[in-house]
Amino acid sequence: MQAMMLVLVLSPVLAFYGGARLPAMRRQAVAPAMAMRTSVIGGNWKMNPTSLEEAISLANAVSKEYDGSKGEAVIFPPFPFLGPVKETIDGSSIHLGAQSIFFEDKGAYTGAVAASMVKSMGCTHVLAGHSERRSIFKDDDMAINRKVLKILEAGMIPVLCIGETKEEYDAKLVESVCAIQLAKDLAGVTAEQMKTIVIAYEPVWAIGTGLVCPADVAQSTHAYIRKKLGDMYSPEVAEEVRIQYGGSVTPDSVDELMSMPDIDGCLVGGASLLADSFVRILNYEEEA
Ligand code: PEP
Repeated sequence: MQAMMLVLVLSPVLAFYGGARLPAMRRQAVAPAMAMRTSVIGGNWKMNPTSLEEAISLANAVSKEYDGSKGEAVIFPPFPFLGPVKETIDGSSIHLGAQSIFFEDKGAYTGAVAASMVKSMGCTHVLAGHSERRSIFKDDDMAINRKVLKILEAGMIPVLCIGETKEEYDAKLVESVCAIQLAKDLAGVTAEQMKTIVIAYEPVWAIGTGLVCPADVAQSTHAYIRKKLGDMYSPEVAEEVRIQYGGSVTPDSVDELMSMPDIDGCLVGGASLLADSFVRILNYEEEA
């Protein structure tokens, strides 16, 4: 009877992981009612690599080398590679993500890609609000909010990227920038939906620069973000939300970052393009 109850409780989790090895839960519940958080590490390939052969070879190497035991792993290839990469990683512990979507369902939007399209390719996660989308492609908070809602509606996990620029960091505006982005980008998101969203805190000055935010500084911003989500929703909801750090994460910095209590994962750009580096990041070791 007890075994049957356990199967019933775990069946949605088993369905999500498709029978692959279940990840270890790395957070202790602070109170019995509060859930533990599964770590989530993403590899954002951006506009790389430049050929399908290289994309398949990278996906193949990562999916062969990572067994899923440390947590959820997602790769975000460019749109044209989604189908072939999906075929390559099928049956492994790696999930497929899209780097963006447009917030309309279909129609005369040349060059755009709808949420339902990437969902039908097998994507489970979608990035929204990445700083390169904000600065180069002019995605503003209203567009990002519409994208977050559309990703949720399509049944996928939004990975909402927020974070301050160097000028804002120097002006000590880190918390207010994060608070404003959270409020605007999450407008209309329900408490139940919020529990599924991943927040990626990515200081813009640390992205692609080799400058990693010191782990203790990142931890204090993550704690602030969790407190803010607690004010916007409830402490219980905030306790369930997974918050990633992003910005020049490498095998050398991941262990210390992942040892912080409010850092539940990383969003990795450059280092996700080298299979060995990314697999080492996925197999992070928490420091004592
Ligand atoms: C990113 O693209 O989200 C990112 C953090 O890039 P990088 O790791 O190269 O700084």
